[in-house]
Amino acid sequence: MLYIGCHLSVSNGYKAMAEEALKLDANTLQFFTRNPRGSKAKDIDESDCNSFLKIVNKNNFSKVVAHAPYTLNPCSPDERTREFAREVMTDDLMRMEYLPNNLYDFHPGSHVKQGVDAGIEYTANMLNQILQPEQSTIVLLETMAGKGSEIGKTFQELRKILDRVELQEKTGVCFDTCHVYDAGYDIVNNLDGVLEEFDKVIGLDKLYAIHLNDSKNPMGSRKDRHEKIGTGYIGIDAIAKVINHPSLKHLPFILETPNDLKGYGEEIKLLRSLYNG
Ligand code: FE
Ligand code: FE
Ligand code: ZN
Repeated sequence: MLYIGCHLSVSNGYKAMAEEALKLDANTLQFFTRNPRGSKAKDIDESDCNSFLKIVNKNNFSKVVAHAPYTLNPCSPDERTREFAREVMTDDLMRMEYLPNNLYDFHPGSHVKQGVDAGIEYTANMLNQILQPEQSTIVLLETMAGKGSEIGKTFQELRKILDRVELQEKTGVCFDTCHVYDAGYDIVNNLDGVLEEFDKVIGLDKLYAIHLNDSKNPMGSRKDRHEKIGTGYIGIDAIAKVINHPSLKHLPFILETPNDLKGYGEEIKLLRSLYNG
């Protein structure tokens, strides 16, 4: 069973978002927990959450992915900025318990001029402050392209963050194909080798979701510009290998490609036709 979906807006509520996913023949999805600036999220509407859960359960969705605002920087040199990331993510995790047993993805942050190791310490410290033993959500570190001073551009950097976390069982990784390729991992010619390295450094058992994106730029460009499936440097053949890889094929695949809903529907249809079951 291929679990494929795309990034959707939750602005009309959770139930409306699940219905939108069904129209696109998706069986997973991703949404931002609040607008990218990280402003106050809407009040929780329990009945809307329950309607959402009913739809996704009835239609055999995989876990769904909530995405933290991408403007947060948990390893900023500025204390107030770090605190803000911690406050927003704490609130998001509290809200996620109304949609239990799902995934929460975030970008590990940019160290600015402090150096990678200082960034790793700050992000790990934040995780140690926000993770709770009783939470049902798995918090995912996303593999990053290495734009600017982003941390998480190598599997080793993510491993170092995870190593410092006390509640490791509440953590995992989301593998973004555009980011990994932009960071210099050759998933086009050597997907097996890249996944072997991932397994050796992080462990494939820590991998919970794939962001399925093509890239507007060549391998190692460190740009992070997503492209539509099959029209970028990664290409359709490599994407087909990703969704069919024995180590990945059971995971939720989330499209974050530059598309409107119609475009997402077409990509989902294409990917379903390329899946070998
Ligand atoms: Fe992301
Ligand atoms: Fe992503
Ligand atoms: Zn990206």
